[in-house]
Amino acid sequence: MSEQPLAISQLNDFIFCPVSIFFHSLETEENIMVQDSFQLNGTDAHKHSDSATYSTKKGVLQGVSVYCEKYNLVGKIDVFDEKTGILTERKKKIKTVYDGYIYQIYAQYFSLIEMGYKVNELRLYSMDDNKIHTVSKPEEDKIMFEKFERIISEINNFSFRNFKQSNISKCQRCIYEPLCSFSCLKEE
Ligand code: SF4
Repeated sequence: MSEQPLAISQLNDFIFCPVSIFFHSLETEENIMVQDSFQLNGTDAHKHSDSATYSTKKGVLQGVSVYCEKYNLVGKIDVFDEKTGILTERKKKIKTVYDGYIYQIYAQYFSLIEMGYKVNELRLYSMDDNKIHTVSKPEEDKIMFEKFERIISEINNFSFRNFKQSNISKCQRCIYEPLCSFSCLKEE
């Protein structure tokens, strides 16, 4: 892939399927492409923060665009409380804490640190059931930190030329399948 900054959301997309990053990037801010209910729920979880630069509560950053120079990542902070140092990434409902969720909050964490903020705690918040999942910081979880750096390297070195999707179940539940020439379903 190019030297263009990676979107933080691409870390999660890449784990599902590298090709989905391409389709995701085609989506405009107006969400021209069709979204399934899962995606709409995710959009809904962030709609308040994405529309605001700062929340009404003083010292809380919400939806602020950030750039992380170290990993060449761009994206948005979901919620960061400057006073407590708690960084929170909200999801509609968290049934499993997927690695992709952790990579996303790591990316926000490194961006804030570069900006000079002190981040004390990382949290994933499941809105539907009001559950908080505390995430260890990268320096406290060597294995996850190495996985985070590896996935960024894999994205930067990814080539469509050698790619073949072998997991048919992913294509079966992929919203981009009708448009995708890499789909396993097209080989049936
Ligand atoms: S249809 Fe399959 S190969 Fe294409 S983007 Fe979706 S999961 Fe990937």
